[in-house]
This record gives sequence, C-alpha cells and structure tokens, in this order.
Amino acid sequence: MPTTLETNSTNYRIRVAVPVHLYDTFDYLVTEEQYQHIHLGARVSVSFGRQNLVGIVVEKLPTNQPIQTKFKLKFITEILDEHAILDEKVLSLLTWSAQYYQFPIGEVIQSALPTLLRQGKPADLLTRVWILLDEHAETKIKRSDKQQEAYKILKLHPQGTTENILNLAGIETATLKALAKKDICKCVHEKQDLSPMPMTLAQMPLTANEDQRKAIDTILKAQNKYQAFLLDGLTGSGKTEVYLQVMERVLKQGKQVLVLVPEIGLTPQTISRFQSRFHCNIVLLHSGLNDSKRLQAWQHAQSGKASIILGTRSAIYTPLPNLGLIILDEEHDLSFKQQEGFRYHAKDVALYRAHLEKCPIILGSATPSIDCYALVEQGKLKLLELNQRAGSALMPKMHVLDLKVSPKQHGISQLLIGEIKRRIERKEQVLIFLNRRGYAPVLICDSCAWQAKCPNCDANFTLHYQPYSHLHCHHCGTIHRKPDHCPQCNHEELKPIGMGTAKVEESLNELFPNVDVIRVDRDSTSRVGSWQKIYDRIQTSEPVILLGTQMLAKGHHFPYVTLVTILDIDSGLLSVDFRAPERTAQLIVQVSGRAGRGEKKGDVYLQTLRPDHPLLSTLVNHDYRAFAHQTLKERKAALLPPYRYTALIRCESKNQQLNQDFLQGYAQNLRTNANELIDIWGPIPAPMERKAGRYQAHMVLLSQDRAKLHFYIRQWWQNMLHQKPSNMKLSLDIDPQELS
Ligand code: ADP
Ligand code: ZN
Ligand code: ZN
Repeated sequence: MPTTLETNSTNYRIRVAVPVHLYDTFDYLVTEEQYQHIHLGARVSVSFGRQNLVGIVVEKLPTNQPIQTKFKLKFITEILDEHAILDEKVLSLLTWSAQYYQFPIGEVIQSALPTLLRQGKPADLLTRVWILLDEHAETKIKRSDKQQEAYKILKLHPQGTTENILNLAGIETATLKALAKKDICKCVHEKQDLSPMPMTLAQMPLTANEDQRKAIDTILKAQNKYQAFLLDGLTGSGKTEVYLQVMERVLKQGKQVLVLVPEIGLTPQTISRFQSRFHCNIVLLHSGLNDSKRLQAWQHAQSGKASIILGTRSAIYTPLPNLGLIILDEEHDLSFKQQEGFRYHAKDVALYRAHLEKCPIILGSATPSIDCYALVEQGKLKLLELNQRAGSALMPKMHVLDLKVSPKQHGISQLLIGEIKRRIERKEQVLIFLNRRGYAPVLICDSCAWQAKCPNCDANFTLHYQPYSHLHCHHCGTIHRKPDHCPQCNHEELKPIGMGTAKVEESLNELFPNVDVIRVDRDSTSRVGSWQKIYDRIQTSEPVILLGTQMLAKGHHFPYVTLVTILDIDSGLLSVDFRAPERTAQLIVQVSGRAGRGEKKGDVYLQTLRPDHPLLSTLVNHDYRAFAHQTLKERKAALLPPYRYTALIRCESKNQQLNQDFLQGYAQNLRTNANELIDIWGPIPAPMERKAGRYQAHMVLLSQDRAKLHFYIRQWWQNMLHQKPSNMKLSLDIDPQELS
C-alpha cells in the first residue's frame, strides 16, 4: 500500500493502546493544547472502526518528525483523565506482560482497569460517608441485630465513616439504608480525602519463635530494595505472623503492602487477622465486588490512601504509589495463573513488579512449587524455613489405608469408620475430602454396559440428584434428564458407579445418623454468605463431619478438626501430566494440614488402591520437602520444567485433521529454523480431545534458553495467527501450568 504524507493536519500525535484483540497500538492526532496537557497512562476516548473505545495513552510521539502512515490519522474524541491513572511503573509492568506473554497490549491494559474506568466513567468518584443523626436511637431499633451493630459502630465515629470501611466491618449497605429510612443516619458524598491514614497497632505482635524471628529479621534487612524470599513453613507454623511483623515495619514507614491470596474464600479470615492487628486503611480487590466498590477500593490503592491492599490474581496490576512490600500467600496455588485469554502468572508478574519497584517480595507456602525450589537452587529466591508448628500444636500423623484389603462400607474402610466414630464420641470434628462433586461420576447399564456420556465431550456425565435428578457434564455444562431406562437396551436398572460428595453425604448420614454432616462444594455454597455461615459453625467446638472438595483444602484454620481423610487419591497418582505428582503431594499435605491445629493431635487417613506408591511412602515416612527434593532431581534428569522453558499452543476447531495438519506445518517450520534450540512435542490430540463439540490439539515447545525460545516464537506465532483458517481458535500459553 502506498505511503501517504499528511500535510494538512497537526503534527501532534499520541500512541494509544485500544482494547481490541490486535497486537498493535494505534496513533491518533491531538491539538497542540491537548498535546501539552495529556499524560501517559491517562485515558482517551477514540473512534476505532465504527466504535468509540476507551484507550490508554502509552506514548507521545515527537513533533519534529513528519507523519508517515498508511492510513489517514483521526483526532481523538476526548481526553478522559487530567492525570495519569496508571503510573509509569504499572505501565511498564503491563507492557512487559504483553511482550512476555505475547498478548495484545490493549487487552492486557484493559484487564488492569476496574470496569467503570473501562467504560469511561470518571476516575475521581465521590466517596459515600455515613453519619449518625440520632444518638439516642437504641429504642427505635428493634430486634434486628444487624441494625444494632451498625448503629453501635456509627456511634463510635461521630465524624462519619466511609461505606467501604463499614462494609469491611461486616455492615451491609442495605442495613445502613434501613437505618437512614428511620432518620437514624444519613449518607453524604464527600470529595475523597486521599491522604494516607497513619498505621497504629491495634494488637501486640505475638512473641516470635526462633524460626519466625530469623525469617522476620532476614526480610527486614532487605527493605527498600529488591529481594525475593520463599517462606517455606509447615501448615500452622505461623507464616501469617511473619507477614504481620514484616508488614508492621513497612506500614510504619508510611508504605503500602500488597497481599495476594489465591481465592476470595480465603480473604475473610486473612482480612480479619490484618484488621485485628492494624488500625489502617485496608482495601479488598477481587472479582466478587460490585463495580463501584471495586473502583473505590482501586482508587484508595491508586491514590496511596489505602495501606494494605488484599487481592486476588489481577490485583497485581493495581497502581500503588508507595509500594513497600509484596506478599503472595499460598504461592503454589494454581489460581494465580490465569487459564484463559491473557494467560499470565501473577507470581511471575509479582516478582517482576517487585524488581521494578525495588521492594522485597515474600512468596509463602507450606508446599512450595517445584518451580520455586528451583529458583532457590539458582539463588534467585532466598529460602526461609519454619520447621515447627507455632504454639503447642503438633504435626498430624499420616496413615495409609489399603482399599484392596480393608473391608468397606459405602466405599469407606471399616477402620476409618471406627476412627471417625471415636472422634465424634470425643466431641471432635472430622474433615473428609473428596474432589468430586455431584452424586456419581458414572451411570452405567447393568445389562449392556451402556454409559451416560456427554454428546459434546469425550467425557462421562456426572449424576446429580439435587436439586432434581439430572445428568451434568462438568466440562461443557450440558444438562440432560436422567433416563429411566437404558436408551440402548431398555433395561430398567441404571447403576451409579463411584462416588461424589452428594453420595458420600448420603452414606455418612446413614452411618452417623446423630451427627451433623456439612457438605462444602460449589453446589452447596453457591449462595452468597453460605460459606461464611459454614465457616462460623466450624469455629464452634461442636462435633461435626465436614465433607468437601478443594474449597476445604486451602489455608483454613479449623482448630477442632482432629481427623482428616482423603477418600480417593488414586486419580491424582495415575494422571499422565508430569506435574500431577506435585499437585497430588501438595493436596495431601494441605488437606492434612487442616488436622490437629488446636490442642489435640491430629491424624490423617489416605484411602488408596496403591499403598506402595513411592509418592505416598515419601510423604508418610519423610515429608513434603523430601518429595520436592526427589522431584527436582527427576525433572532435572528428564529435562522437564523448571529445567526447560515451555510454551503450549492450543488449537481448536470442528475438525481434528485440520488442527493436526495446521500445527504440523508450523512444527516443521520451527524444526527447520531452530532445530537444536527448540524441542517439539506433538502436535497431539489434547487429553480430552473433544470438548463442547470441538476438537482440541496441542503442541508443546521446550527449550533451555528462554530468551531464544521467546524470540523464535514471536514471529512464528504472528504468522500462525495471520494464516489460520477463520473457524480455528488458537492460543499461546507461555509457561503453561497445565498441559490440558
Ligand atoms: P500458617 O499461616 O503457617 O498456616 P498461622 O499463621 O495460621 O500458620 O498460625 C497457626 C496458629 O499459630 C495461629 O493460631 C497463630 O495465631 C499461632 N501462632 C503463630 N505464631 C505464633 C507464636 N509465635 N506464638 C504463639 N502462637 C503463634
Ligand atoms: Zn443397557
Ligand atoms: Zn460436555
């Protein structure tokens, strides 16, 4: 296309990242006055194709060069922010992320903005403040505990309290509105006071034990410079106390602390521990917040008003003017990796951010990832170990139950049933882990062996009886009625095989008719607040059997649980993914870690058909670190990650041959150009080849040289994107965590 030289318009141009799935940024014209006033990191609205989009200014182009472009440049529509809303460091972090993960910059930046800002709403929203009007309203408020509680808190703060803080204290906006209706309080909009609130201690720190002391002192030596730590502490060894004491020092200097946790489910406890230790402005950032709450929290963070920012994965991109420390808790958790779209790993981004901001970062876990141990080996992470449980709690004892020889009832070994009975009689709590929701994973015909399979996936339907009996595909969401007869031979007996949480719940109710069984899975906790209720119930010392999935495995503190059991660990032991043993070992140790955290010692029972599996014997006879050490050696010998860097291409279309041929061509191309540098696995059909009616194929690239791997992929990937058939979907996953 011929290059045209623009002569008639202005020479003032800016470069804008626009939220579209294109790898480029786009140039727009501005007036001289706009050019003088516009900031990098500010939003502008621009017309793009037929749409009007909100973009971010990423560059002001020098004015002394003539404009050479294939297209006639357009003027921007409007400047939306007088000041930058993304600071320079966050902009570089985003640019780096877009390059590293090879994802369109406009979409990367978009993911860092709260929804209201993406929509072009003003960035300096007013803050809602609630003020008490009637100081003698006790009698006006009747039975409702919620209103009494809200009233008491409002009374403590005659100047008024922001809605954000009230919400954090568990006071719902609806309750405040109810009080306002009775003229007991009112809501005013106040221009935000964005000055930070100095931190004061609300509670004295615990006396650190020797390991904790050593960890705290070492981290504190690294203030105001980049250093990365791995806090490797057994479950219940007091990692949180280490965080709190390091945070105290950082907060005292008027700096901000960013704390990343894997899931919202974990935040209520973490936030209450922070709140009871520190008087300061704490904000939460996670996807469960509504848009205005999220914007408000984000503004507090971005303006420097918030001192502690507690968030999930995407909070890593929050602008923080005074960042002094990053903590990433439960470092091994997979939810730090985004598994679709912009597939970043918040842990790697956090390490880079700490480096940019010149501040320390702590990665904490009881079961650190093998990747982190490798970084320790390379001297990139400093290892800090906590080797005993804090206080008086002891580590639980592990027992392996051989399902081949033990007599069973409802799939649970007799011996285990006896042990559960004993705990309940002693008024203790029991936790049963099973990572499979629903009633049964298989429904089979007794006569002809027909199985209920999802018509769209290579997968069985899961049988559910709640809220009505149906078949559900956990991979694509398809729901079918449960047939009364076998569709193949008309036989009347269709038999559920295997057990899901709903089935085990039924069995436990039969085995222990006088004990409360609480099921915790996505089906039983989908209502807002239901998990909090369950959590409160667990914190009372009443005997109870907790039965649940993943949700129960994570960092919770259940002081009355003395017996933990994992009903089926074999699926994890049999998986083909080279990371499966790591995940299984982490799961076993994390679930086990819920036992014996109070005064009484805990026991862990693992049911398996493979009691002699080396992973189990290493964990039972030694510990997680021994397992990790062994795994590192094996990965090194096999040249698997983290000893080689990887990228995974996923290809999806209605035709598997098309996928395979397409990938094969590109594999050949890479072999010709970078044969010694890059090893290629595949293309092969994905472990679940057909999902939601489309076929999936994979290709994995491996290399010991990360820079060269990324260099070779760059152009190659762009070519693929340009040449792929239109009905094919392609994605690139840099440093994939799952090969499925
Ligand atoms: P982790 O985060 O490592 O799983 P926690 O921080 O939850 O462990 O600590 C487990 C329990 O030990 C908590 O109840 C905590 O209050 C207590 N604890 C931590 N450090 C100490 C200490 N130095 N002295 C006494 N108790 C402690
Ligand atoms: Zn049949
Ligand atoms: Zn399906």
